[in-house]
Amino acid sequence: MTGGAKTTHPLHEEQWAAIRAHLQEELGDAAFRSWLKPLTLRRIENGEALVAAPTRFLRDWVSARYADRIGELWREMNPDVRLVTIEVFVFPAAAPAPGAATKSDAHAPAAETAADELPARGSFLRLRAVEEDHDGLSSPLNPRFGFSEFVVGKPNEFAHAAARRVAEADNVPFNPLYLYGGVGLGKTHLMHAMARHIRERDPSRRVLYLSAEKFMYHFVRAVRYKDTMAFKEQFRSADVLMIDDVQFICGKDSTQEEFFHTFNVLIDHNRQVVISGDRSPSDLDAMEERLRSRLGWGLVADIHATSYELRLGILLAKIETIGAIDVPRDVLEFLARRITSNIRELEMALNRVTAHATLVGREIDLEMAKEVLRDVLRASERRITIEEIQRRVAEHYNIKLSEMSSERRARAVARPRQVAMFLSKQLTSRSLPEIGRKFGGRDHTTVMHAVRKIEELRQSDAAIAEDVELLKRTLES
Ligand code: ADP
Ligand code: MG
Repeated sequence: MTGGAKTTHPLHEEQWAAIRAHLQEELGDAAFRSWLKPLTLRRIENGEALVAAPTRFLRDWVSARYADRIGELWREMNPDVRLVTIEVFVFPAAAPAPGAATKSDAHAPAAETAADELPARGSFLRLRAVEEDHDGLSSPLNPRFGFSEFVVGKPNEFAHAAARRVAEADNVPFNPLYLYGGVGLGKTHLMHAMARHIRERDPSRRVLYLSAEKFMYHFVRAVRYKDTMAFKEQFRSADVLMIDDVQFICGKDSTQEEFFHTFNVLIDHNRQVVISGDRSPSDLDAMEERLRSRLGWGLVADIHATSYELRLGILLAKIETIGAIDVPRDVLEFLARRITSNIRELEMALNRVTAHATLVGREIDLEMAKEVLRDVLRASERRITIEEIQRRVAEHYNIKLSEMSSERRARAVARPRQVAMFLSKQLTSRSLPEIGRKFGGRDHTTVMHAVRKIEELRQSDAAIAEDVELLKRTLES
């Protein structure tokens, strides 16, 4: 191939665009613009995605830091992609590569000329050959998702113990094991850790790990090619079958039926089945009753929402593995306090801060972290509702929730109400009139007055200042 026309399929271009959008969100605009925007997709052929970088420096940089994630995203978008290769590809001098002349050049060890790069073919970098079992059914395991990388805390200790028990057992301690919890809380991580552990302990055990979507994909393909016998055979010969995100099978009747049969056959033959889902068995609405009840026969382990301690623990562990970069303790505490939705977002926030620091060569401090994460923080603030604020404030001052919208002006209820209005203004993106409406249809000027009053009191009254601080913390945690 020379610098000629690209031969990418429109569908692949679409997938690549989606991957780029993901990366942009995860890394922030600045890092994205400098490192990832200059990459282009050349083609996908025989399961290999070929990505072009304009300079060798960029290729190495991206490979070292983002290869893993790019590979992951590709596999989520397109199960046929098994290998991602980054190649240096130089556009003709007359027409410089879009994005080639970005800030990143400042970091390049030497400005590389096109001539330097012309024998670009051949300077391939193999990112990662995807590891899979011989028949290609099992999905690759992320090397980052091991038991030793999994930080255990109160919210996940039960699920973790159950996962370890299954991974270390020679028999089948409970069947099936159903792990459930919200998005980004570590279900996939635990499943990969189990699969790897079982394979390492006994390579002769056939472990099939795949997402419910991939199960569906194989099933539909088998039906189309009239090859369902082989399909059944493949699954039913597994010693351990692990299906991730089972909620995706819900409502898909024929796949669900097939899954149920496979599941029963394996359990009846005392093979281990592990399933994950984003909700409890009783909440799997579209799931057939018999499947649902059979899930309940084994062990159901719930991963709870994260706690501050767990979030901080995870950040500390991450920092240790990254090494080299110094992230002050108060920044980690700030992230743990503010990014509460799930662990994936917490990791993304940390990545973004460290990527930014490397990029502009600036030390990481609280102010910089706040600036880099401005949009993320705003989004997480939006999730605090006025109702929640009212409830917490009422609890704190030991008054009835209804006093938040009552007419009473006694200090004992008026002050807490003002605190709640103040916090609503600070912690949500609601406007003054909207806030007024939620407080018994009060006027926006009343809200404004309350906000000013509390601001004043915070300066002069230590007790109020402390109350506000405490409430803010609990609301944000
Ligand atoms: P889920 O499958 O529940 O949506 P994942 O397993 O993909 O979530 O986890 C999201 C991210 O958070 C992954 O990068 C994972 O490594 C990380 N993660 C989740 N739980 C933990 C934990 N207890 N310790 C360390 N990292 C974790
Ligand atoms: Mg998952």
